[in-house]
Amino acid sequence: MKPNSFASLSLHPDLLKNLSTLGYEEMTAIQAQSLPPILTGKDIIGQGKTGSGKTAAFSLGLLQNLQVKRFRVQSLVLCPTRELADQVAKEIRRLARTIHNIKVLTLCGGMPMGPQIGSLEHGAHIIVGTPGRVEEHLRKGTLNLEELNTFVLDEADRMLDMGFQPALDAIVEYIPKQRQTLLFSATFPPQIQSIAKQIMQSPVMVKVESTH
Ligand code: ADP
Ligand code: MG
Repeated sequence: MKPNSFASLSLHPDLLKNLSTLGYEEMTAIQAQSLPPILTGKDIIGQGKTGSGKTAAFSLGLLQNLQVKRFRVQSLVLCPTRELADQVAKEIRRLARTIHNIKVLTLCGGMPMGPQIGSLEHGAHIIVGTPGRVEEHLRKGTLNLEELNTFVLDEADRMLDMGFQPALDAIVEYIPKQRQTLLFSATFPPQIQSIAKQIMQSPVMVKVESTH
């Protein structure tokens, strides 16, 4: 077995089978460093360039934890833009293809509320969205995150640049304290360090310079 093979991880056999179908033969550097602590439930701060495979790193973690039979929102992924949220949702669905009946829902600003509320009434396992809209659903009571176990902040530095800090702070008040938090960011300015301190518990730092 290659040292960076996904098979070296204790991943669900359906996920392993799907990774090989997708042609993901070896973990990228950030996946090799972050997946072992992610799979043991640790909080992670991941720093890596664009294209280093961060999406699959956190997505495999949340899919491994997911209880499909419990039809409640168990994972929330926040992204700075609708385009990124759509890409992340697409990647999660691809990775989850062999696990049937997983419902991934996107909740992004700039889209009408009505259809989102309708979809939420039908239920979901995983929400991918932008902070402003997710907060709006929480305030209205149309989204319930009381059973969340994995909270992901993707491109955290960009979310702050876009002024989402107040929405992030508000969202944290609605989610269980006992949870896993995974934060990814290209840069690590003081504002991110301070957020990490507030919302994470003894995070493992993973920093990867190269793409592979
Ligand atoms: P990042 O979020 O770090 O910028 P992405 O998660 O979007 O990067 O991944 C970049 C590309 O690499 C995507 O097209 C994804 O499908 C692909 N990819 C991710 N992990 C692997 C892997 N282990 N093997 C092959 N391709 C991968
Ligand atoms: Mg990314």
